[in-house]
Amino acid sequence: MLSTMQDAPLSIAQLLRHGSTVHGAAEVVTWTESGPRRTSYAEVGRRCAALAHALRGLGVTGDQRVATFMWNNSEHLEAYLAVPSMGAVLHTLNIRLFPEQLVHVANHAEDHVIIVDPSLIPLLAPQLPQLTTVKHVIVTGSSTAGLEAPEGVQVHTYEGLIEGQPGEFDWPEVDERSAAAMCYTSGTTGDPKGVVYSHRSIYLHSMQVCMSDGPNLAQGDRALAVVPQFHAMSWGLPYAAFMIGASLIMPDRFLQPAPLAELIAAEKPTLAAAVPTIWQGLHLHLEHHPQDISSMREVLIGGSAVPPALMHTFEDEHSVSVLHAWGMTETSPLGSVARPPAGTTGDEMWKYRYTQGRFPASVQARLVGDDGTVLPCDGTSVGELEVRGPWITASYYGVDAADKFDDGWLKTGDVGSITPDGYLSLSDRSKDIIKSGGEWISSVDLENAVMGHPSVAEAAVIGVPDEKWDERPLVAVVLREGTTTTVEELQQFLDGKVAKWQVPENWTLIDAVPKTSVGKFDKKRLRADYHEGGLK
Ligand code: ADP
Repeated sequence: MLSTMQDAPLSIAQLLRHGSTVHGAAEVVTWTESGPRRTSYAEVGRRCAALAHALRGLGVTGDQRVATFMWNNSEHLEAYLAVPSMGAVLHTLNIRLFPEQLVHVANHAEDHVIIVDPSLIPLLAPQLPQLTTVKHVIVTGSSTAGLEAPEGVQVHTYEGLIEGQPGEFDWPEVDERSAAAMCYTSGTTGDPKGVVYSHRSIYLHSMQVCMSDGPNLAQGDRALAVVPQFHAMSWGLPYAAFMIGASLIMPDRFLQPAPLAELIAAEKPTLAAAVPTIWQGLHLHLEHHPQDISSMREVLIGGSAVPPALMHTFEDEHSVSVLHAWGMTETSPLGSVARPPAGTTGDEMWKYRYTQGRFPASVQARLVGDDGTVLPCDGTSVGELEVRGPWITASYYGVDAADKFDDGWLKTGDVGSITPDGYLSLSDRSKDIIKSGGEWISSVDLENAVMGHPSVAEAAVIGVPDEKWDERPLVAVVLREGTTTTVEELQQFLDGKVAKWQVPENWTLIDAVPKTSVGKFDKKRLRADYHEGGLK
């Protein structure tokens, strides 16, 4: 028997209609050199309609791809909403990809239009002649200075294109399963691969972002989206904010600790999201340049493991609570969120908060052993994490990657355990785990332990070849400004924090840990440096 329920599609157009009317007074703040630039959700709604008319005018039809090469700002939000609502597909290009990766990704997605911020023209322009499917480039603002169009490509200004266009658009009804947006993985461990989100998956994921046991984004919140809009859809914040009526604070290109601190003090976000390295940088900056950041009730941190020391620092020194979460581009990205069980306090509560978190009802998770057997969620069995659910990808765009899936489950490449009450603890990425004398060492556990030392600003651990043990950990340490320490002291510090046999004998001091295009520790680079003799 079928239900009697209406089959109303879950669509981005519905989020756009709802946010720009019911929550029309919510605001988008974009940070600029001269302070904040403000607009309302009602105005964003009108400009989305104008943008859709302008794109139609350029011939954008069907599921053609409209790419963005942009920072987080109000124009990027307009593209997020307008492009899928008109039935086309938004493709967020990662501005930090290597040139050859950018060319590959834009050609592979067959981008037809690219919207670019003026400050990013120098990064895009040299690659344009190789982008074989691009017909139009739209520069945000009112000038195309610095951009010469290659043959066959027309260049426009964003403001010039939308000027005089109607502020309303008859948004087509789309199949909720059709493509709304696409994002390529950042390639931390391999080549970038395309993930295509549907209207339905984005809509359902937005609801999760607003759930109280999830990130708990609520009406009246001021959400600071530091995580780039080109990194896993800014973790879903833009769409969820339009759904729930939370204002958005967009840092544009001002992502360094000093302007971020200034922005937070001025705009008083209540919630923020970014990878651990951003928060570590902000904290080190605030030590010497104090500012009040306590307007943030919570910061959502994921993308790599959050060192417990960082959680305590934010809580004790800045009165900001850290919410640890796990996810991937492939999972939209929300997977698990570390809200402790109701009623837990003290050490027990912290134990839960250190984990990668608990999966919501919509995300099923299991652990699989090396031999393919499904392992129990008993808190001790360790295996590869596999997930499935309505906002988890079932394939990659245009490539055969059958090895990444297991009977309908996504193989995450992450290794860990799950407790009977559903909390995930990741030990490592399978590619980063260190095999020493037949036993596994978690590089993340070592990093977290070393980063608890007061002189250490950052520490990254890789496995290096060892004649006796096959592999041993090497710790690359960045010291805090004005501090000193010795290898012996660091080794002693690990005493009791990790098993004795895991305490590394290989240490090296470096100026900075290399970072990936989305700000994670770049262990591929560290390994290459080691093998080229640059790291000893
Ligand atoms: P990339 O794979 O290129 O780094 P993603 O942002 O999609 O791009 O990364 C997803 C991966 O990031 C996960 O598979 C996992 O290894 C890591 N990750 C995400 N969140 C966490 C977390 N809270 N703790 C540990 N690792 C995490």
